[in-house]
Amino acid sequence: MGKQMFSKPPIQKSHELLLPTTKESCWILVFLLAFGVSSIHGDDGKIDFRYHHYLDLSRVLNDTAASCHEISRVYSVGKSVEGRDLWVIEFSDNPGVHEPGEPEFRYVGNMHGNEAVGREILVYLVQYLCSGYQAGDARIRRLIDQTRIHIMPSMNPDGFERAATLGPDSPRTSTSWGSYGRLNSERIDLNRNFPDMLPVWLLQEESQRRNHHVEIPEWYWDTLVAPETLSVILWSLSQPFVLAGSLHGGSVVVSYPFDSCGLRKVMRSYSEAPDDALFRKLAKVYVDGHRKMGKCGQVEPCNARNFTCKGGMTNGAEWYCVPGGMQDFSYLVTNCLEMTFELSCDKYPGEDELQTYWEDNKEALLSYMEAVHTGIKGFVRDGSGKGVANATISVEGVDHDVTTGELNIFDIKTYFLIPQRLTETTGDCSFRGLTG
Ligand SMILES: [Zn+2]
Repeated sequence: MGKQMFSKPPIQKSHELLLPTTKESCWILVFLLAFGVSSIHGDDGKIDFRYHHYLDLSRVLNDTAASCHEISRVYSVGKSVEGRDLWVIEFSDNPGVHEPGEPEFRYVGNMHGNEAVGREILVYLVQYLCSGYQAGDARIRRLIDQTRIHIMPSMNPDGFERAATLGPDSPRTSTSWGSYGRLNSERIDLNRNFPDMLPVWLLQEESQRRNHHVEIPEWYWDTLVAPETLSVILWSLSQPFVLAGSLHGGSVVVSYPFDSCGLRKVMRSYSEAPDDALFRKLAKVYVDGHRKMGKCGQVEPCNARNFTCKGGMTNGAEWYCVPGGMQDFSYLVTNCLEMTFELSCDKYPGEDELQTYWEDNKEALLSYMEAVHTGIKGFVRDGSGKGVANATISVEGVDHDVTTGELNIFDIKTYFLIPQRLTETTGDCSFRGLTG
């Protein structure tokens, strides 16, 4: 029961072929219409394609978790300035528990409050996962049984409520930087509010430089850190996430690290991460799953750059420098690879367009989650078979290590590598530096 089951049957054609000229054909038509309606909607039919304000969002998440209580739960990682919860819904065959061998994945939407498409398609995604699991969809069952998925539809619920007062398609909620509702209630841009870790890393003495888990500098805590940012930092550090996506709007493209220009003053130049090839590979998973993102001519250019004619992806800094963004933080401070999905030119489109955005992104959202199983995963154990926490795992040729998990389990780390790159450099998957 993959995505094919939700494709539209030729209902219009049925109308034409079965004009009810006899009582019998009338019954056939009634049957086809009834069956057809059900087939058209499938699991998508249970989704209400509209905007969800905070209370609505809270209700849908809780209703979904109640309906799928065996595989999901709702939790909050903190509160916004105005006291709204930063809700997360989790999907797992064992919700609430990190299971050794099962990687942790997350989506975060609506970090900029006026970028509403990501918020809504995540609300649709959680309903789709729940109903798909209940319906026995083999693909969704496999995904949830093998992965712990965390979905935060809105990191900036206050900003969304402000943007919503203007409604969709307002000139002020289109692509301009000063968009109403973009910032949190303290007028902080959350995607500039994380510590800018790339210069911190580069300024470290070569002799003592770690290429992973770079420490957040003391000075950062003297800056104005938004409660939304702090909550997500603590959340990022509390769970062993290994792959993530942050959903934005204003363009149609995947943007991957580094976002920061580092120490350079040069704007719009490629800021290459040690895992650059892997980031591009993962970005391509999303682009290929999207109905339009990498297809030249399918989307009107949103801005001066038409990414759809350039593979649908870009290095973050090559587009424009973003110091203090979330994805660089995730990469340099935690074990998580994260990238940004820009989903629409219009940041806050009309409600009647939301279903199309969902359909454009559905396969990409699923494929990207499945990509968490790319590469190698395993356990690091000592001679007696006991798991080793915080062991460093290095891949030759990639100047970015990862570590085994620490929670209370001492034995899990899922990580990624690129077989081709390893083949080129070492010929095998040799590890070095396994330390306790
Ligand atoms: Zn944004």
